[in-house]
Amino acid sequence: MKVFINGGHAPGIDPGVVGTQTTEAELCCTFMHEVSDSLLAAGCEVRFMQDDDLGKIVQSAADFAADVFVAIHCNGFSNPEAKGTETFCYSLSAAGGTLANCIQTQILNALHTVDRGVKENKTFFVLRKTTCPAVLVETAFLSNEADQELLVDAGPEFSKAIARGITDYALLTGSN
Ligand SMILES: [Zn+2]
Repeated sequence: MKVFINGGHAPGIDPGVVGTQTTEAELCCTFMHEVSDSLLAAGCEVRFMQDDDLGKIVQSAADFAADVFVAIHCNGFSNPEAKGTETFCYSLSAAGGTLANCIQTQILNALHTVDRGVKENKTFFVLRKTTCPAVLVETAFLSNEADQELLVDAGPEFSKAIARGITDYALLTGSN
């Protein structure tokens, strides 16, 4: 299976959510590399990219002929109480919905974050413009103290969980 991993935002250009300990772009860069390494070890073909030009990312995934596309982000909200994990797909009833469920389940089981659910989103550029099954994972909230601790201290566990979600999907759909 060919997997395209997109770390959200771009260090030094677009930090995304800025936490007190780190930025979304920095964390997602690490997650992107860790997930890619796990998937390579599991026998997947992997391409990864982090760039503030989303058109370039979508084009690169198309050139690669990716079977699945996974964007990794951290959430942020004005209310510091908001916390938990949510995973977005273009359509719940399509393959992207299955992939989103696999990843969401693995993160909840491994990190015990609050379950904000798997949700449809028709407006996110990378979900709209990607032709293969695509998801956007909001791992946890950098704007929440406890979630930020988890993201910083248990980062590799998020990465492993995301990778397991992707290989669960591959097994489920028979796409090796
Ligand atoms: Zn983001």
